[in-house]
Amino acid sequence: MQNPKDVPIWEYAPDRRLAQFTIRLRNVTGALAQASKLVADLGIVVMGGFTSAPNDSRMGVWSFFADITDSPDLTRIRRALLDSPIVEGVEILGSEDGFMVDRQNFPLMFSKRRALIMRTDALNGMFARLWDVFGSGAVAIVDQMAEAMGKYTANEILDDLGRDQAVRALDEILGTYTALGYAQVEVGSRDEDTMLIHARGLFECESNAKRDIRRKSTFFRGHLRGLMSTLFNSDYEVTEVECLAEGDEACSFTISRTPSLTSRLSLRQGI
Ligand SMILES: [Zn+2]
Repeated sequence: MQNPKDVPIWEYAPDRRLAQFTIRLRNVTGALAQASKLVADLGIVVMGGFTSAPNDSRMGVWSFFADITDSPDLTRIRRALLDSPIVEGVEILGSEDGFMVDRQNFPLMFSKRRALIMRTDALNGMFARLWDVFGSGAVAIVDQMAEAMGKYTANEILDDLGRDQAVRALDEILGTYTALGYAQVEVGSRDEDTMLIHARGLFECESNAKRDIRRKSTFFRGHLRGLMSTLFNSDYEVTEVECLAEGDEACSFTISRTPSLTSRLSLRQGI
């Protein structure tokens, strides 16, 4: 079952009173349950939002858009929340016309690293522009950009986990493509030097299929190559063997370790 992860950027509900809450809570067991009881008792209807309770912090955050049409005024809501020993701070922004944008939460972080949100349609539009301007030369540009991104990501993973854990947890690490919205990635089969992975709903190929363009996933292949080559400190080749844009159910890739440049030179020189 697919379960979309929605990051709320704005809410629009004409004729309703909306507000955005950021409630700082003591990071203890049951804090969120107590806070949600307080919110419900005030008649606040919670819409989209997020919680954050890092295990190394004494404070957690619950931030959400809410419909407060049937709730008391903001001063009373604020006072009622602050009266609770579980609540350490409250910020509330109100909107009377039923429209509001999240201006309270910045910067955006993915697992403690600064990030930004880019729509897949916008990114695909940028790629399409590159193809229009540079023709087949766009392949090299997109491939190199993607490889650099893959290498960058792999270096962050190595910094966080160390190489042993990163290599051990490779299936889980490939799952970050799912977490970040590129595609729903699963590892198919593998032997020592080659693995097969399946990527459902890959953003590039889904867009190409819609536009009836038979162009395979230049970005994703480059990214995977950069990621794998840095994680394993070896050269890799990534080939798309099945593709959504060619009528297959999902995109599938083989990732193969290739002889390193040094050993290729050695072979050529017969050493
Ligand atoms: Zn594809």
